[in-house]
Amino acid sequence: MPGSYPDNSALFVDRSGGLLSIDLAAVAENYRMLASRAPGSRCAAVVKADAYGLGLGPIAQQLAACGCDCYFVANIREGQALRELLPAGDIYVLEGVAREQVDAFQAAGLRPVLNSPRQVAAWRAADTPRRCILHFDTGMSRLGLSPEEARAMAGDKALLRSLQIDYLMTHLACADEPAHPMNDRQLKVFDELRGLLPDLPTSIGNTAGVLRGETSRGDLVRPGIGIYGGNPIAGLANPFRPVATLEGRVLQLRDVDADACVGYGADYRTTRPARLATLGLGYADGYPRNLGNRSYGLVAGQRVPLVGRVSMDCLVVDVSALGPGALSEGDMVQLFGAEPELDQLAGLAGTVSYELLTRLGSRLQRRYLRG
Ligand SMILES: *Cc1c(COP(=O)(O)O)cnc(C)c1O
Repeated sequence: MPGSYPDNSALFVDRSGGLLSIDLAAVAENYRMLASRAPGSRCAAVVKADAYGLGLGPIAQQLAACGCDCYFVANIREGQALRELLPAGDIYVLEGVAREQVDAFQAAGLRPVLNSPRQVAAWRAADTPRRCILHFDTGMSRLGLSPEEARAMAGDKALLRSLQIDYLMTHLACADEPAHPMNDRQLKVFDELRGLLPDLPTSIGNTAGVLRGETSRGDLVRPGIGIYGGNPIAGLANPFRPVATLEGRVLQLRDVDADACVGYGADYRTTRPARLATLGLGYADGYPRNLGNRSYGLVAGQRVPLVGRVSMDCLVVDVSALGPGALSEGDMVQLFGAEPELDQLAGLAGTVSYELLTRLGSRLQRRYLRG
């Protein structure tokens, strides 16, 4: 990835301040679970944004080894990077195609998700085969052909003949709230629109759509977050295995008296003598700054609270509750993983697992566990 440190493991000589472990066996298990939850559908994998921040190369290779033969990326550059890794397999580009990208799409064997009449026209100028997905906006007002545009297209038989449409697609705004009336409203619009076209396969469900039920899946499902261990439906137990574990290395331990200030702004004061551990990662590594004084780490099953503000390169946890000698310089403290859970931490930070994962910094040492 441009902008990342190229050979991450050598650079850190096993002493990085922040360590991100990615469990590829859990990736495989989560993908297989999603595929089994969508019987009769083909199960793609959404690997946009560097596979949700976890590393396109190792993730795509693992998914391919599980039999995944269909991928979604956000844009052409992600598609080209994926094609270098996977010579076979269908790669769809969610952003669609612009006229000046047509040759590059074909050279890399990429297929656009066509979102607008302009994109449709651009792809018609390509050499055959012009394989693509047609995306209908059924109420999210983000990407996709409007119902009026879809109706106009349906009446243009020459245009329809000129494209090889693999799937008709839509995306649900509220699949993460399974009972939200918006879901059925969108599905109804989608059914109307696809009724105007020849009978074609469909693609509807993201992770939450897969779990929501058959009507929100289609012939091709497009899960992302579940593969990476995130919980797609707030308020329900997470059915997926955690994939990413973030740990910070203890750079320094210190014993302080009562009334010691900790961190920028002297934002925290100890109320009694305390033992503090400074960990070598901070907001530059994607640990949210607004978690200062609000979250916790885990050492041998025991919670250690974050105290003071999160700095760019370090943060401090109060480890007074641990037994003497339980923690030394160089040891690791878990910041998310099995506990605290990714979604729990994201919630504390006022965001979602998606944002937390995709903001993890390139400075972290990444370690892939092949289970
Ligand atoms: C990102 C994305 C997905 C994957 O959604 P998850 O909630 O991560 O499963 C599916 N479809 C589209 C159109 C997307 O943009």
